[in-house]
Amino acid sequence: MFNKKNFKEDIELILKIKYGNKLENALEEEKFYAISKAIMNILIDDWNKTKNKYNKGKEAYYFSAEYLMGRALGNNLINLGIYDEIKEVLSELNIDLNDIESKEEDAGLGNGGLGRLAACFMDSSATLNLPLTGYGLRYNYGIFEQAFGDGFQLEKANDWLKNDDPWSIKKEDETVIVNLNNKTIRAVPYDTPIIGYDTKNTNTLRLWEAHPIEDFDFSLFNDQEYDKAVEKKNRAEDITRVLYPNDSTEKGKILRLEQQYLLASASLKDLIRKFKNKNIDISNFPQYNKIQLNDTHPVVAIPELIRILIDEEGTDFDTAWNICKQTFSYTNHTILQEALEKWYVPLFREVLPRIYEIITIISEKLIDELKHNELSEDKVNNMKIINHDLIHMAWLAIYACHTVNGVAALHTEILKNQELNNWYELYPEKFQNKTNGITPRRWLALSNPELTNFLEELLGTKDFIKDLDILKKLEKFIDDEEKLNKLLEIKKEKKLQLKEYIKIQESIEIDENSIFDIQIKRLHEYKRQLLNAFHILDLYYRLKENPSMNIEKRTFIFGAKAAPGYFRAKAIIKYINEIAKLINNDEEIKGKIKVVFVHNYNVSYGEKLFPAADLSEQISTAGKEASGTGNMKFMLNATPTIGTLDGANVEIVEEAGMENNFIFGAHSEEIEEMKKNDSYNPREYYENVKGLKRVVDTLIDGTFDDNSTGMFRNIYDSLLNTNGWERPDNYFIFKDFDDYRRAQEHVDKAYKDKRNWAKKCWMNMINAGKFNSDRTISQYAKEIWNIDSKKI
Ligand SMILES: *Cc1c(COP(=O)(O)O)cnc(C)c1O
Repeated sequence: MFNKKNFKEDIELILKIKYGNKLENALEEEKFYAISKAIMNILIDDWNKTKNKYNKGKEAYYFSAEYLMGRALGNNLINLGIYDEIKEVLSELNIDLNDIESKEEDAGLGNGGLGRLAACFMDSSATLNLPLTGYGLRYNYGIFEQAFGDGFQLEKANDWLKNDDPWSIKKEDETVIVNLNNKTIRAVPYDTPIIGYDTKNTNTLRLWEAHPIEDFDFSLFNDQEYDKAVEKKNRAEDITRVLYPNDSTEKGKILRLEQQYLLASASLKDLIRKFKNKNIDISNFPQYNKIQLNDTHPVVAIPELIRILIDEEGTDFDTAWNICKQTFSYTNHTILQEALEKWYVPLFREVLPRIYEIITIISEKLIDELKHNELSEDKVNNMKIINHDLIHMAWLAIYACHTVNGVAALHTEILKNQELNNWYELYPEKFQNKTNGITPRRWLALSNPELTNFLEELLGTKDFIKDLDILKKLEKFIDDEEKLNKLLEIKKEKKLQLKEYIKIQESIEIDENSIFDIQIKRLHEYKRQLLNAFHILDLYYRLKENPSMNIEKRTFIFGAKAAPGYFRAKAIIKYINEIAKLINNDEEIKGKIKVVFVHNYNVSYGEKLFPAADLSEQISTAGKEASGTGNMKFMLNATPTIGTLDGANVEIVEEAGMENNFIFGAHSEEIEEMKKNDSYNPREYYENVKGLKRVVDTLIDGTFDDNSTGMFRNIYDSLLNTNGWERPDNYFIFKDFDDYRRAQEHVDKAYKDKRNWAKKCWMNMINAGKFNSDRTISQYAKEIWNIDSKKI
């Protein structure tokens, strides 16, 4: 356990042997490394104990191509329960812990919500002492770093390992060999401890790094052909070089498939090796191993397990198939067609011929089963795994897995009744809902210590950091002026902190007395940042017409990365930055509204933004956002939502009360109906909704300049003209514009009544219990994996 004297000595020793440096001369980055390693020394024995304990029984494994972990130092100290202690010890050494924390690179091994969910699940499983290990890939470059140049998004490589990662340990001796058609790879595991909160259990995130069998060809090197000598090495290492942005098209498709296969194959070989050490017959594999497939990215693990069982373990196909069916389960994260993974057969067969062969066997088996069930020709064609030269990974997953889950109640219902209805009718027993969650350690205790302390004072315990449901007890204070004021004070403090941070990061001064209206999430048309932008512009024009309009001051804050190949998303970023320039430089409106697009939104920026928000923007087209988890982070930090009845928003207002949030817009059934009858005509709204044409036309009338890229015209056309197979205004922005504006007016009115506003904040915060990822992961454990907690 923690010992002050040893800890200080460890820091000095590590600085000495790693950098040849003394504390007084060490760089901040070096101090960060040494402190982190000294903390590793505190936890490593418990970590090994946990591994050994889990090893003896049944375990679950989370296979995910993404883990959006963020920084580890602060979180680890909180979970170890030594944050304040370490802060004090460090101050004795003249080190400011907060400064050191800010030196850590975010581990950005994910794109957005899906990867962040995986990270929250890791934290929750450790906290609940659940034997869950995460498997993933150690990308040398995580999600790109975003900058703006003249309002356009610029992308920079994110070399997160440049200063070495103190939190991972290379386990060279547990290397596995993975065979691809034309090359053999050494998959080297790096383990990162996942520290549970208020427990000694320490779980593991195991990430694979690709290496060549031989580092370089020595004979070529001797012949002075240096480039050629390292070519093979580079080609092998390319596989885990970079995280794929979620839009990537044909280019690099082979590499993407190789990544997925490396993850699947290396992880399975690791499990099989561990299992064989138990000396139990292989048919019992599922009694000891449960694997969750996080979306379709790791689904190639299904045919890979069959391949290993048949080709390496000598079972027959039926035995292998039965093992698979009891081992795997699948989480669906989206109904967006473009995100349901399909592989082109010639490409797939080229890279993974044997795996392709196995998929054809599974595909035939399914067709037999469908015909046996007397499904119509149409349905059979619809459900074929291999169809028209495409392999449907989602269909493969649903067929081979014992459960399929959606990530929020509405999403699961849409899967059952629409998107996956054919499958639901065939296998109703497979379908489950697991509403997403967030970890209260990172999203409350770490990012909002002020609020955490207040809650501890009120409750007389810290238990709510595990059991958020306890917060419900605070409903009795709903009319307590003093408590409500204290909550507003804390919000003000967090707003001031954000103001300072934004001043440094963005060189923009914002007004802490304005409403902080925040939309932070990946940039995607379905998330409708454009609807937010149109409303801001409309408000601006109304203010210009009527300068005495009595509105609360507002700061509209955006944070979002657009996938590098997603032209229209990048156009929307440029458009919002142009709007910001226009509004922020107009002295006539006297700073009543301001627009800030913060750059490089990531987990660490989020930790500053969520607690400082007055309003959470969750305005996706109903039916499109599977769950959302950003919405939950705002809620827990006492922030009302303006949003549609989409994803987990539905459950958020169920918990916190419709009257404490601002719900607007078409419902998912209504949208579905309009699509079905083809009855939506956006032009009608464009012509008739007051003020709408005025803002939409700024895309083409010269109000804003897109440097002749055609970007703004492209947005305009997407809203009003049919674009190939895509309908105009596919995301129903015009349809919801007027209702959104009305909801925003309600926000403005409601905010004027401070006391009432505080009550809304209060009700959201105290009712966030359902969205604890501890609840989510314990449902996976009970209802899918059937595993128990094992405390060391
Ligand atoms: C929570 C989170 C997300 C997911 O946000 P949504 O609003 O649910 O899309 C994405 N990125 C980061 C950095 C997050 O912390």
